[in-house]
Amino acid sequence: MLEHDVLVIGAGLAGMRAAIAAKAGGANTAIISKVHPVRSHSNAAQGGINAALTDRGDNWEDHAYDTVKGSDFLGDQDAIEVMCRQAGRSLIDMEHMGVTFNRDDEGHLGTRAFGGQRRARTFFVGDFTGQALLHVMFEQLIKSGVRRYEEWFVTSLIQEQGRVCGVVALEIRTGQLQAIRAKTLIFCTGGLGRVFEPSTNALIVTGDGMALAYNAGARLMDMEMVQYHPTTLAGSGVLISEAARGEGAHLLDKNGERFMKKYAPNMMELASRDVVSRAEQTEINAGNGINGCVLLDCRHLGEKLIKEKLSQIREIGIDLAGADMIREPIPIRPGMHYIMGGIKTDVDGLTNLPGVYAAGECACVSVHGGNRLGANSLLDTIVFGERSGNHAAAVSKQMEFIEFDGDAAVKREEQRIQGILNRPQNGDRVAKVRLAMGQSMNRNLAVFRKQEGIEETIQELQELKTRYAQAPVDDKGRVFNTDLVFALELGFMLDCAETIAVSALERKDSRGAQFRTDYPKRDDENWLKHISVRKGEVGPEVSYMPVTFTKWKPEERKY
Ligand SMILES: Cc1cc2nc3c(=O)[nH]c(=O)nc-3n(C[C@H](O)[C@H](O)[C@H](O)COP(=O)(O)OP(=O)(O)OC[C@H]3O[C@@H](n4cnc5c(N)ncnc54)[C@H](O)[C@@H]3O)c2cc1C
Repeated sequence: MLEHDVLVIGAGLAGMRAAIAAKAGGANTAIISKVHPVRSHSNAAQGGINAALTDRGDNWEDHAYDTVKGSDFLGDQDAIEVMCRQAGRSLIDMEHMGVTFNRDDEGHLGTRAFGGQRRARTFFVGDFTGQALLHVMFEQLIKSGVRRYEEWFVTSLIQEQGRVCGVVALEIRTGQLQAIRAKTLIFCTGGLGRVFEPSTNALIVTGDGMALAYNAGARLMDMEMVQYHPTTLAGSGVLISEAARGEGAHLLDKNGERFMKKYAPNMMELASRDVVSRAEQTEINAGNGINGCVLLDCRHLGEKLIKEKLSQIREIGIDLAGADMIREPIPIRPGMHYIMGGIKTDVDGLTNLPGVYAAGECACVSVHGGNRLGANSLLDTIVFGERSGNHAAAVSKQMEFIEFDGDAAVKREEQRIQGILNRPQNGDRVAKVRLAMGQSMNRNLAVFRKQEGIEETIQELQELKTRYAQAPVDDKGRVFNTDLVFALELGFMLDCAETIAVSALERKDSRGAQFRTDYPKRDDENWLKHISVRKGEVGPEVSYMPVTFTKWKPEERKY
């Protein structure tokens, strides 16, 4: 049987960073990814990555404070300190690995301003930072000699003696199922954006790891905290990076007014994402938008800057909205972008399941709390990816493999999958169920939420689960059966959707990305705590976890 000390699931930035660290720590390490590594969603990151560099007059405490405030005081301050202290070193590591960050006129690493931060500390490569980081990380992965299972899809976990000790995975090219034994597992499976429709996330971002871990008994935390990005393109919902506002773009209502002056007179367009998204939605609801959108105006930035620093989003505007931002404003609106919650971990990535780690967007350390600052996620992936890899490598040295019958595990999974393939053809198609889920989430768990809406979605999710259990898979073949993969992903998504809705219903205050029109105030007395869910007999079981404070006391949040 295939076996490894450390098995990393997911080859985005977090996964590759974790695998490189685990290998360097002397562990027999492998990485598994359902797509070729450089097709992971990290590749789509546009705007940049935050770090406070001391030799640039910045300091990690300021970065940490901005992050704490951005989180609406729900982020765990010990974890935020770890991330912000390590940021400078992690950034320079990436530079030394070969990332060609943009530089300023003096030849230093250049920065741009990003939302919710009092100074410009976002380092970037044009408006395709994620691609630059991911490709360099992939080169390092190859160099490290980590075993790669590319285009292998993890369908289930193997648990023996109360421990997760391996996975069953589908080799997509051949349709073969294989068991892989592992002493430790690191989930780096990314977010769940496509649980909402539309979303800025790639179609592959379906919450697989969160659902697998949850079903194995892991604790998920902060799941109600879903970030709507203020600038997603009309129609397709494709992201228009915050880099545009970072470089100075304005948001306009239908009369050409910069409406942000009403909501965030100091930071204007560069207030936190939750604040800007709510402002836009308020204006749109009041009839001050155009066709359900407001306008992003970059004209005053000039052709030279746009072509040099915002070339990708300019092309997106031309190709998908028929609007060239050099000459005209483009229509945008808030759209689902990121999940702050995820598999609860400590600062070394360890979850409540022994030997199981998580890092990157699928994890919740919690450094983002109620709202993530733009450009803190790429940072989160490399800081906590590395720490998880280090820790897992060290721990796996003290551990033995747990024996299990791999053939039996594969056989069980084959039977389950055959059951899906054998379904009668008369049920609803997977795509239809997926769309109904996404639309329900986007209707009731978006920028503004209220009890009746959330309950409606919880009800709809139950019905969709029943329909899902009967949804047929057309392709009965083995080779590249993406139809089957799509069906398995939907199962994971429905589990994730339920944890989001249940957590949102539980939280009866408005904080960060969650705004309850029926509880419009932040209520620190009762709700300055994390909501955590574990799988129970009939659905998610809710409990609370304390927020960790170090030096920053909760205060009113104004921008
Ligand atoms: C359009 C866009 C722009 C963004 N811009 C920025 C930005 O400028 N700055 C910033 O800080 N953040 C940005 N973000 C957020 C940030 O990019 C992500 O949070 C981060 O890259 C996630 O990295 P990750 O390694 O956790 O996961 P991902 O890069 O999503 O990788 C997940 C991996 O898991 C694998 N996987 C998943 N399920 C399975 C399975 N069942 N079996 C096997 N493998 C599996 C996938 O194949 C993939 O390799 C952006 C996000 C989007 C969507």
